[in-house]
Amino acid sequence: MTDSYTRLVNAGLGKTLSKRLGLPRPAVLRRYRPGDPLTVGPVLVLSDAASKPEADAVAQALLRWEVDVRREPTDDARWGAVVLVLTEAARPTDVSDAVLAVGSVLRRVAPNGRVVTVSRALTDDDPPELAATRGGVEGFLRSLAKELRAGATGNGIVLTDGAAADSTSALATLRFFLSARSAFVDGQLLPVGPADAGADESGTATDRPLAGKVAVVTGAARGIGVDIAKTLARDGATVVCVDVPAAGEGLTRTANAVGGTALQLDVTADDAGTRILEHARSRHGGVDIVVHNAGILRDKLLANMKPQQWDAVIAVNLASQLRINAQLLEAGVEGLRIVSLASIAGIAGNRGQTNYGFSKAGVIGHTRATAPLVARLGGTANAVAPGFIETEMTRTIPTVTRELGRRASSLQQGGLPVDVAEAIVFLVSPAAAGVNGEVLRVCGQSWLGR
Ligand code: NAD
Repeated sequence: MTDSYTRLVNAGLGKTLSKRLGLPRPAVLRRYRPGDPLTVGPVLVLSDAASKPEADAVAQALLRWEVDVRREPTDDARWGAVVLVLTEAARPTDVSDAVLAVGSVLRRVAPNGRVVTVSRALTDDDPPELAATRGGVEGFLRSLAKELRAGATGNGIVLTDGAAADSTSALATLRFFLSARSAFVDGQLLPVGPADAGADESGTATDRPLAGKVAVVTGAARGIGVDIAKTLARDGATVVCVDVPAAGEGLTRTANAVGGTALQLDVTADDAGTRILEHARSRHGGVDIVVHNAGILRDKLLANMKPQQWDAVIAVNLASQLRINAQLLEAGVEGLRIVSLASIAGIAGNRGQTNYGFSKAGVIGHTRATAPLVARLGGTANAVAPGFIETEMTRTIPTVTRELGRRASSLQQGGLPVDVAEAIVFLVSPAAAGVNGEVLRVCGQSWLGR
């Protein structure tokens, strides 16, 4: 799928004209290619006074990744990223110097640059001043992300349960946010806890963190599912591609493209989880990752909704995930990493999509509840909530609505299927084990929802 407007305003006469007319000029986003540098320039690590030791630890990790790290804002650099560590700030005034230092270099952040905050989550025991500071950092990040231009993004790591800024999963998240893998993730604050024993941050520093893992992707015959399968395979996983028999041709194409296997299966079948497990065990020796991507739309205003339209959406988008998860947990699959496809329609709601909105908000609900159940067996369950993504699904939206959907975000464009895939591959990577029960939006900081 293409966004011809973005191409037009970034080349030749279109570029000149759009500049003169003051039209929105969505940037061409930098996307990950193995072997490319992590960032587009040096990384400036700043902090408030009390958080300096944590900032030092983060800077050390960046040096291990062979990043050009600086600790002072200077005028001579074109910054690839600014990392702002505020973990120990206890009063609102503690952060003033550090955030203003970020402001002083903002005009010198390179196109497709990054700003990443590292802070601590609010807890029920926080005294009011501390809670104000921690809450304030989150509001600061969301607003700052809206001021960034030229494909630059702002995201935040919110440490929970005493996780250190240089803990395995915090560093894995930092690496994801700094990299081109997070091209369409913007304005997000991701809670990150201490990683489970055995998770290794160095894994994310390689190009194949999923080597030796077996991954199942439902709805793999077309759309986002194809990119999820390809991206998992690129990062080393063996992929089982699942889709309905009617989509058999596309399914075989994806399975062949990724060197995996195809399983023709309707995910609403009563024994879908058991059949997935049997296939994965007999063909590949087990299963480590499940991506619940299969999904359908049956849009209707509720006043016109037919029972079959409501029921089909709930069955495919929600009930199938519950049943498959239950069967895999029942079978005692250990270390399972699950990611479910939600949607910003499940967060903000959408006219004509009460069935879809129910199903996607339901996905967010069950992900939170499933997280502690899989954690007992060493696994995680998370969701991604895509915003407007350029697919067959969104190509059928009427032109004006489609244009609004594309532009109504900080990045002023739709994302690509690969952007959703990159977020999923990050969430299932060994080093992201400290991210559990969360919803990561891949929406270019869409104006819809919280
Ligand atoms: P798509 O329609 O292009 O592909 C969905 C795939 O799921 C198809 O191959 C289809 O055959 C398969 N599928 C449907 N019912 C199935 C069943 N019962 N059993 C097995 N497979 C089944 O959709 P897409 O745009 O690639 O979306 C993928 C996921 O991302 C969906 O869950 C969707 O809700 C979600 N999503 C998409 C967008 C977007 O902008 N495209 C935005 C938010 C969320």
